[in-house]
Amino acid sequence: MKIQPIAHKSLAETAAGKLAASILDGSLPPGTQFPPERELMNQLGISRSTLREALQRLEETRLIEARPHVGWFARTISEANMAQAREMAGWAGPQAVRPATQEPSTGPLRVPIAHEKPIHIPNLRKDRLGTFEFISWWEREKVLKARVMVIGAGALGNEVIKNLALMGVGNLFIVDFDKVEAANLSRSILFREGDNNRSKAEIAAARAKSINPDIHVQYMNGDVTTQLGLGIIRRMDVIIGCLDNREARLAVNRFCYWVNKPWVDGAIQELLGLVRVFVPGKGACYECTLTEQALRDLSMRYSCPLLARQNILLGKVPTTPTIASIIGGMQSQEALKIINDMPIEPGKVTHFNGMVNEMHTTAYSPRDDCESHWTYGEITELPARAERTTLADLLRIARADLGPEAMIELDQELITQLECPNDHTVEEILRPLSEVTFEAGHCPTCGVLRESTMTHIISGEEKFLHRTLASVGVPPLHIIKAHNGVQYRFYELTGDLPDTLHFRHFEQGHVTVSPAPAPEASKGAAASRSDHGKVRLKGEVKMKGTVSASERGRVKLRG
Ligand SMILES: [Zn+2]
Ligand SMILES: [Zn+2]
Repeated sequence: MKIQPIAHKSLAETAAGKLAASILDGSLPPGTQFPPERELMNQLGISRSTLREALQRLEETRLIEARPHVGWFARTISEANMAQAREMAGWAGPQAVRPATQEPSTGPLRVPIAHEKPIHIPNLRKDRLGTFEFISWWEREKVLKARVMVIGAGALGNEVIKNLALMGVGNLFIVDFDKVEAANLSRSILFREGDNNRSKAEIAAARAKSINPDIHVQYMNGDVTTQLGLGIIRRMDVIIGCLDNREARLAVNRFCYWVNKPWVDGAIQELLGLVRVFVPGKGACYECTLTEQALRDLSMRYSCPLLARQNILLGKVPTTPTIASIIGGMQSQEALKIINDMPIEPGKVTHFNGMVNEMHTTAYSPRDDCESHWTYGEITELPARAERTTLADLLRIARADLGPEAMIELDQELITQLECPNDHTVEEILRPLSEVTFEAGHCPTCGVLRESTMTHIISGEEKFLHRTLASVGVPPLHIIKAHNGVQYRFYELTGDLPDTLHFRHFEQGHVTVSPAPAPEASKGAAASRSDHGKVRLKGEVKMKGTVSASERGRVKLRG
C-alpha cells in the first residue's frame, strides 16, 4: 500500500489565505482597515498568535501594512504581489479551520537534541574557554561573535559583566550613567577603592577586559532612556537589564520591541530576586506585567515630566552581593541560552526567595492593549550623523519619500518654552526634556514650578529647523520616525556607526587598567599584559568594516 503525502497548511497559512482571498475579491478594498484583532480571531476561529503569524505573512507579501498605533490596512494589489496573493488565497482551501483550542499548548518547549558537535579536544593549558567545549550545546563561534548589551553596572550588572567576560562572550556594550561610590564596593566585584567617582560603565568595561583580554568591550556613560541610539540596540543579540527602576525598564522594553530584540530583566531586593526574559511577539512583555496602578503612577509622573526624571535618581533599594550573584548568574545563563539558540521561556518570571530558598516560575498574561507592542518597519540607513544633520535635512529626506505632508516624530519631548503661572513671564528655550533639570523648571523670579510647552512633532513650520538633530536630543545612530499620517518611515543615522559602535575600548596597546591586587598578577606573563596605572579613555579605534546592516526590521503586531 502506498500512502500519498497530504499537503497540510498551517492554521496561520490558512488564515492568511482567507484574508488574502478577501483582499483579492474586493471584500477588503485597498486602504481599508482590518477589524480589531479579537474580531478577526473570532471570525477565523484562531488564536492571537496564529492571527499574528498570518498577518505577518500578509505583511511580508506586501498585501497589508501596519500603521503603528492604528492597525492593519489592506494594500493595493499590483503586478508585484498579484501572483503571491493568488497563491496565498489558494491556501485557504475548502477544509474548515480548526478551533483555537486544538492548537498545541504553549507549555515548556522540548529541548532540541544537540547536533553532533565535531570532535575537538581542547588544549586546557592554552585555551581559556576549553572546558566549555565539553558542554554539548555550547557553541564557541556563537559565543565569540555575540554582542551583548548590559544596561546598568550596579550590583547585578557587575555580576553579569563578570560572568559574560569569564564565558568569553565576545562583545560587551555596557551602559550606566552613574559614578562609583564607596557604598558600591560591598556588592560590586569589578570596582576598587581607587575608582571612587569614576564612571561605573567605564570601570566595569575596563575590568571586564582585564578579566578576559580576548573579548571586546565598549561602554557608554549615559542615560539609557534618552542617550542610547536605537541603532546600537538593533545590532545586539541580547540586551540584559540590570536596572533598579520602572522608568528605565519600560524604556528598555519599548526599545527592544521597536527593533525586535530579546531582553533579560533582573531585579533584586534584600534576599529576594526575579529573572524574566522578554521576546517581542512571544508572550507578555515588561509593560504587560505592570499593574493598572503602576501604569497610572508612571503616567502621573509623566504628567510632570521634569519631576519624573528627578525621581528616577531617588529610591535606592537595599541589596546584597549574594542575591546579586544568584540573580545575575541566572540572567547571564538566560543570555547564554539565547546566544546559543537554546529554548527559553519568554513572558515568564522566575522568583527566588532567599529567605526560604524557594524558587517558582509563572507566566504573565500578555495584554491586548499594551502600548509596547510595536515593531519598526524596514529601516532606511542614511549616511547622516546626529551632530551634522539638521531637522530641515531630515525633513527634506522624509518628504522625498512620503510627500509634502511628512512630519518627523521625535522620541523625546522638546521643551520650547517655560511659562510662570504667577507672573506670566515666558522663557523661550529649545532643549530636550532630559537636559532641563527640575530646578531649572522653576521661575527665577518667584520660585514657582513653571508650565512647560513641549513638542515632539516636527511639521516644517518650526523656526528651529536649522538645529541639528543632536541639539534637540537625538542620540548618535538613532532611528527616527517620520510619517505622513498614513505611512511611516524609519531613518537610521547610520553615518554615526563607526564612531558609535566599535567595541574597541581598552584594546591592546591602549589598555591601561590598574590590575587587581591578586597575587597571580605579579608572576608570569599575564602581569605584563595589563599595564599599571589608571583607566584611561583612550583606545577608541575606528571599527574595521561596518556591522552587518542586512537585518531588515518589519512592522509586526506582536503579543
Ligand atoms: Zn506588553
Ligand atoms: Zn514666577
